[in-house]
Amino acid sequence: MADRRLLMIPGPIEFEPDVLAAMGERTRSHLDPAFVEQFGSALERSRKVFLASSDSQPFVIAGSGTLAMDMAIANLVSEGDAALCVDTGYFSARMADILGRWGARVQSVGGRLGEAPSTDEIVAAIKAHRPKLVTVTHVDTSTGVRTDVESIARIAREHEALVVVDGVCSVGGEVLRQEAWGVDVALTASQKALGTPPGLAVLVASPRAMARAKSKKVASVYLDFAQWLPVMEAYEARKPFYFATPAVNLVAALDVSLGKLLAEGMEARFARHQQMADAFRAAWRAMELKLLPREGLAANTLSAVYYPEGVDLTFPARVQGVVLAGGLHPEARTKYFRVGHMGAVSPNDVVATVSAIERALGRRGEGVSAAHASLLAK
Ligand code: PMP
Repeated sequence: MADRRLLMIPGPIEFEPDVLAAMGERTRSHLDPAFVEQFGSALERSRKVFLASSDSQPFVIAGSGTLAMDMAIANLVSEGDAALCVDTGYFSARMADILGRWGARVQSVGGRLGEAPSTDEIVAAIKAHRPKLVTVTHVDTSTGVRTDVESIARIAREHEALVVVDGVCSVGGEVLRQEAWGVDVALTASQKALGTPPGLAVLVASPRAMARAKSKKVASVYLDFAQWLPVMEAYEARKPFYFATPAVNLVAALDVSLGKLLAEGMEARFARHQQMADAFRAAWRAMELKLLPREGLAANTLSAVYYPEGVDLTFPARVQGVVLAGGLHPEARTKYFRVGHMGAVSPNDVVATVSAIERALGRRGEGVSAAHASLLAK
């Protein structure tokens, strides 16, 4: 029988058939007018999905989320600049590593497992360190902790620092309003809530970020905004322009997927992610499974759940019909598992996933019943 296991890890996720069909079309020349239209449209749609201003600059580049992180920092940091990293887990630590490699003097705030630093701690760290740049991981996929990007961005701006948001596990699922919140660079990758197979880095930069980048010489050809800006501007103006070959099939798929996100509507999409996450949370409560994030900090795009007594890290592999992820944070890697619930995730997926977990645990359906009740209550 075909492999019909449901992919419920926090990326890559299940992709929609029309997105996959777009990927499978014959590869066009990157100068073909039909591709120019797809690329131009994908850029315009990225700006809308990020709820970014009309004068912000989108970039869609072949690479993964880590490339997007590297690119953002390469263009905004100069040797010796102070930078503050709001640390909520493994991916925040990666950002701190990248900042250091590009020459920043990095200070981290937070770093407690399952927690996010308070606004008071962040203000104190900004006052002590005077950063030119603040980075924040919207949802750290290693812990399932969601940060309050709106408040952090406001604080950073009050202290004249640029704000970079790693939205790899949030954009298209969690509420992120780039313009309204004053985020300078928001970045993500195709394979999560944007609903497109892995391989594209997507960034949107504010005019303030573009102005900072303009004054900088970047010691990498591929990462330099200045190399890509004429490409992005040309395709948006529906003209081809070559710098480095774009990932033609992926861009075509991204355009289809972003079109679907916008057809659903960003507010409706945020609300659906909240509903699916609430149903999962109702199930975890009913099953007496403890979440890794502290109360009130749990993301809507994934759940990070401690194994119950007597269950070890072989558990995800024993769950039938659904693919789950193990732990990732080095402090607790063997103690929890993760369930992704983003993108096209539906009530059926929630119930199927909870049911598969309950069967593997020998439970009788308390979780399914609670998830069901939560879904009915909406
Ligand atoms: N940041 C976050 C929050 C992520 O979840 C991930 C991927 N899981 C990354 C960055 C890195 O993305 P990629 O694996 O696509 O390089």
